[in-house]
Amino acid sequence: MNKKYIFVTGGVTSSLGKGIISASLGLLLKAVGYKVTIQKFDPYLNIDPGTMSPYEHGECYVTEDGAETDLDLGHYERFLGISTSQDNNVTTGRIYNNVISKERKGEFLGKTVQVIPHITDEIKNSFYKIGKNNSFEIIITEIGGCIGDIESLPFFEAVRQAKLDLDRGDFLNIHLTLIPYLSTSGELKTKPTQHSVKKLLEAGIQPDVLVCRSEHKLGKEIKNKLALFCNVSKNSVIESIDAKSIYDVPVLMRDERLHEIVLNYLKLSKKKPLRLSRWNNFLKNLHSSTNTLNIAIVGKYVSLHDAYKSISESLIHAGANLNSKVEIKWIKSENINNKNAENHLKNIDGVIVAPGFGERGIEGKISSIKYVRENKIPFLGICLGMQCACIEFSRNVLGNKNANSTEFDNNTSFPIIDLMEKQKSIKNKGGTMRLGSYTCDLEKGSLVQKSYGKLKINERHRHRYEFNNIYKESFNENGMLTSGVNKKLNLVEVIELKNHPWFIGTQYHPEYSSRVLKPHPLFVSFVKKIKSIKNG
Ligand code: GLN
Repeated sequence: MNKKYIFVTGGVTSSLGKGIISASLGLLLKAVGYKVTIQKFDPYLNIDPGTMSPYEHGECYVTEDGAETDLDLGHYERFLGISTSQDNNVTTGRIYNNVISKERKGEFLGKTVQVIPHITDEIKNSFYKIGKNNSFEIIITEIGGCIGDIESLPFFEAVRQAKLDLDRGDFLNIHLTLIPYLSTSGELKTKPTQHSVKKLLEAGIQPDVLVCRSEHKLGKEIKNKLALFCNVSKNSVIESIDAKSIYDVPVLMRDERLHEIVLNYLKLSKKKPLRLSRWNNFLKNLHSSTNTLNIAIVGKYVSLHDAYKSISESLIHAGANLNSKVEIKWIKSENINNKNAENHLKNIDGVIVAPGFGERGIEGKISSIKYVRENKIPFLGICLGMQCACIEFSRNVLGNKNANSTEFDNNTSFPIIDLMEKQKSIKNKGGTMRLGSYTCDLEKGSLVQKSYGKLKINERHRHRYEFNNIYKESFNENGMLTSGVNKKLNLVEVIELKNHPWFIGTQYHPEYSSRVLKPHPLFVSFVKKIKSIKNG
């Protein structure tokens, strides 16, 4: 069969959830037997979001092959259970960078290099690249931003051209809009959607399917009106009503028959009947669990929960798997010190100290770790969280008061965490950390090994600093086991405390690989311990 390309665009406002709609559609198409992948095109000039603050952009999601990407890729992976790659997230910055380096090489000799056709050709090549190189049958492409944004224009122009490149039935546009509700008059309004579609038509794109976000049911009349004014067939206007959770959206889309409409346009039939029984089981557990566990995430960017998206989703997956409702308590690390740690943490059942960069909030993270270590509260430290656990142990158990990471104190007499040798000569910040999947060997019989149930794991990384091996022996002798190592690079990947119910720090990021239908074993083990302590 020809490769099928679905382009998901958005209008009226940003943050309508194009990523969740794309992931939900992907899940439904996968469930009826197709090989599906999803890619995202972002209209900003950074080559990737790796150099942006989480406050600007939310979490930076890391793929197995080490791409620093948009957090929507996390949704794609979690919903579909697939792995994405460097090719699944393309930015305007990357497109221009590619075109400009081709220009310097002389690939366009004699020509004036222009947005059309050179930039749009580069965008289209990126649209098709993922479909050319592998076995995917349906490629969903989410276009970031909204129609009408100046910076998204070349992407929309490339979508228009893609329709000309592709055979009839191989191209589909789904446009996601908002139908606002005016409470004073009690009315749903279609005008913003009409304007949004007009803008799309100006760009030469006729939407095939309209997905309308709304707080209230649309009803036949509104749907028909939208169809008439937006030039879309009546049965292709579907509502996407506010859902209880993002994980309910695939089921709502199934009820709206989004997959049937899409298959029809693409001239495809179901390869197998649609069954969502495992997904529905997960939803049942998610919504019916009453056993509440309070888990704190101590971090520097907690005022924007999206900054820790994969961590909170991993907790939700593990919680549902264990019939428990995880209530996340967001704690700003800067607000904690040794004196008030108890006030912040006394009613908390388990603590995660989050990843991060830079000095702000570090002492608060260390104080939180001291408290949970001494009070035997289950603890998971991720990346910087693991590094802080090492500093805390060195300072407060081994008595090295000046212990630190050279990220925060270059002259510390106890550089417990230090730059990898290879990192020392690196000057550029973008894309130069230890990124992506690495193998780790786990110590037989350790808590981490028992949690995974295997001896060898692969996990994703995103950091520059590492545990300093000169302290390995004293850590192990004094009860902090270095229970996971990368043998090839001779790096400590996991630490765990003996004589504590559950205390693990990982240099890698387990949260990137938790899936809805395959919760991460480390999160499951962590939440299970919390549950068993709480329920006695
Ligand atoms: N700042 C630390 C480092 O670069 C930790 C990074 C992280 O938590 N992702 O090593």
